Amino acid sequence: MREIAKIDTTFAEQIKNECGENVYSCYQCKKCTLGCPTAYAMRYKPHQLIEAIQLGQKDLVLKDQSIWLCLSCQTCMARCPQNLDFVKVADAARIIAQREGFKIPVPEIAAFNSSFLSLVERFGRIYEIGLVMLIKLKTKQIMKDMAMGLPLFFKGKFSFLPHKVENISAVRRIFRNTKELEQK
Ligand code: SF4
Ligand code: SF4
Repeated sequence: MREIAKIDTTFAEQIKNECGENVYSCYQCKKCTLGCPTAYAMRYKPHQLIEAIQLGQKDLVLKDQSIWLCLSCQTCMARCPQNLDFVKVADAARIIAQREGFKIPVPEIAAFNSSFLSLVERFGRIYEIGLVMLIKLKTKQIMKDMAMGLPLFFKGKFSFLPHKVENISAVRRIFRNTKELEQK
């Protein structure tokens, strides 16, 4: 008698626990990929990433740079006949990759995300020069893109000092509550 191969659903369950999305609702129509502005740069396109998660191919998804190239523009979600939110799936995959110590293939994107959030937590809005400095320290690429940044600085496009929003305590409360929820 022929044996039926079993699919490992552990990774799909992990994604569902993290973001609530059920990847098994996807039936591979590819509408997400056809509308994605960064699919051309991804080794594995959004529909292929979903399929890999369905099949339990955790290493393939978490080691590749494709999940890091999603811009969270939500075009894929708007087109999906199953209302599957790929942005949440990609976010969940990135969170799991960092939590479980996978090497981040595009460290600049992880550095941008964490630096952006820490500045919003501190000032309630973005502080461009601080953002650039934080990313450079985290990626240890001090001189990279300097030629692009300096003209912007001299044209006054970056404010020299940070500005706080008025009700900064409300912003910090949101961050505190989110961290508490994450620890539960
Ligand atoms: S659009 Fe939705 S159903 Fe179609 S392949 Fe993408 S995720 Fe799957
Ligand atoms: S949210 Fe991400 S995967 Fe979806 S269309 Fe935009 S860039 Fe592509």
